[in-house]
Amino acid sequence: MGKLFFTSESRADAACARSAGQMGAARRVACLLLPFVLLCLCGCEKQPETKSKMLDGPLDTVSTITLYDWSGGEEPIDEIFEMLGDIDSRMSSVSLTSEPAAISAGAGSPVAVSQDTFGLIRYAQTVSAETGGAFDITVRPVVFLWGVGTENARVPAQTEIDAVRQAVGYDRVSLDETALSVALADTGMQLDLGGIAKGYACDRAVEILRNAKVGHAIIDMGGNIYACGTKPDGSPWRVGVKSPLVGENGHFGIVSAADRAVVTSGVYERFFETDGKLYHHIMDPRTGRPVDNALLSVTIISESSTQADALSTACFVLGAERGLEYLETLPGVEGIFVGEDLRVWISSGLRDSFQMADKRFALVGDDEEG
Ligand code: AMP
Ligand code: MG
Repeated sequence: MGKLFFTSESRADAACARSAGQMGAARRVACLLLPFVLLCLCGCEKQPETKSKMLDGPLDTVSTITLYDWSGGEEPIDEIFEMLGDIDSRMSSVSLTSEPAAISAGAGSPVAVSQDTFGLIRYAQTVSAETGGAFDITVRPVVFLWGVGTENARVPAQTEIDAVRQAVGYDRVSLDETALSVALADTGMQLDLGGIAKGYACDRAVEILRNAKVGHAIIDMGGNIYACGTKPDGSPWRVGVKSPLVGENGHFGIVSAADRAVVTSGVYERFFETDGKLYHHIMDPRTGRPVDNALLSVTIISESSTQADALSTACFVLGAERGLEYLETLPGVEGIFVGEDLRVWISSGLRDSFQMADKRFALVGDDEEG
């Protein structure tokens, strides 16, 4: 099955790419530039159709859909935003009326859910099993305790952390395929689809574009990019992998991609600082604390955005060595790991399609010890 933006050969194209994942005024300016810049660089006959919208739930991002060389109107984009709004409200971990909230409230008993939520939870469970619980959608009590990205963000006492850790355990989630129900074993357990829902929503958006016969498009959901088809000239899209350095908006590397999701999990997305230490939003379910393993970001490239989203979070928790080992067992899935010392590890399948674009970052070579 990254946090990035797509680029072409030039800085101008990188600016387009950023239109998706970045903030405020810069994003709006990039959006305005987008049609013009790509018109010049891609040799498109037609102006791209582009639309952005803010979503507040687990998607929690401005999503931008851009269709290139397309004369079929805005209908597929409107359909995508309608679908995204639906997923946002049904899969939110914050809203009290979402399906994860209903499962959490009903902990101890089975709760029936929609088919897609059931399928997503079942897939999340597979990733949990494959990663020894590095990815765990029952991590919600830990996420809530730390409150990263909310006004309640704080470093909790060890006793509080120990208490919530008891409520975490993917192996205490039961799924009933026939009843399409999900049961958390104990009261106090809670679900959080924040590490995977955006990827799923992105796959659904791709499906809508394919059904509409859109051949060239970029979906940018703030760090979850999907490069649909190729560029209008038939060459692969060039997706810029965002610099994980806090406060920087540029990219440090470029991936060539066609019909691929490029999804990044990084410390820079949501964090707070106390006593000079940064606490981010990716939790280690075993310690009940933000992962502290000298990584800054992990980017996964896969045909499935759902998989790329789950694995970017999972591999961040696993760390570079175990994460790469895991990825090498999965055909068609690639990864880029960036350490605090700006060393970059890539999986073997990326050797011909990843390019470093920032001299401060150093690719770890085959002959070098990881
Ligand atoms: P992402 O940005 O895709 O890495 O997802 C991070 C979000 O996933 C967090 O904001 C939490 O809601 C949730 N999360 C944090 N740690 C984990 C974990 N170890 N496994 C699954 N979900 C997590
Ligand atoms: Mg994720």
